[in-house]
Amino acid sequence: IISVEELSKAFGNHEVLRKIDFNVGPGEIICIVGSSGSGKSTLLRCINKLETQTSGKIRYHGKEIGAVQKEINDYRSKVGMVFQSFNLFNNMTVLQNCMLCTRKVLHLSKEEAFDRAITHLKQVGMAPFINANPTQLSGGQKQRVAIARSLCMNPEVLLFDEPTSALDPEMVGEVLNVMKELATTGLTMIIVTHEMAFARDVSTRTIFMDQGYIVEDAPPAELFKNPKNARTREFLRRYL
Ligand code: ATP
Ligand code: MG
Repeated sequence: IISVEELSKAFGNHEVLRKIDFNVGPGEIICIVGSSGSGKSTLLRCINKLETQTSGKIRYHGKEIGAVQKEINDYRSKVGMVFQSFNLFNNMTVLQNCMLCTRKVLHLSKEEAFDRAITHLKQVGMAPFINANPTQLSGGQKQRVAIARSLCMNPEVLLFDEPTSALDPEMVGEVLNVMKELATTGLTMIIVTHEMAFARDVSTRTIFMDQGYIVEDAPPAELFKNPKNARTREFLRRYL
């Protein structure tokens, strides 16, 4: 679905991504792990066109995604992103947050946008909160609403940047469970995470990044049991 080709990104003379290559196929659940500063968020942001790469290409179904805003907007409605900090609008209700993009971007009727919002809020267990304001919700609840909002766009791929790292420990599980559930629906997901157990149990492929390189890209059974690279082994020793 998505192919990343020789993608490099520098901030000034700081090279953050160095010739990253990988493909994302339908239904894959790809977890990206690696130490802080290794370039994981920058990679997701480049894939979502929130950053412009220094060189290299992102293709979606073979077509290069360039700089034309209309193309980027269409692409983003198919490749959504869920952030660590939820990014909900606090001046709107849960329901309004979930209807905004489908109304504005997809031009759905009120009824259709409402039906989709309810369907996906139910899916994440947040239907009882449709009239709540995000400020009244716990972190885990906010993140579940943010996921429902993304799902309302019927994305083909959903990107997650550390969706649970801003949460209190007791709320991590409810969000990971929603994501586990989603993984069974055929949605393609790319997830940057520090939750190694989740990566090991749920991903179809785990990518280990270090200093802007993909060091290892393998099924989790291999990567976690039998890492080929010394840096992967060192990283996993610190995490597991
Ligand atoms: P973490 O696990 O802490 O989230 P990460 O792997 O997501 O780390 P990135 O956020 O992609 O890492 O950052 C990679 C490097 O790029 C870091 O050294 C960071 O300081 C730098 N960087 C990221 N964004 C910018 C920016 N907008 N301007 C300058 N430098 C940046
Ligand atoms: Mg990051």
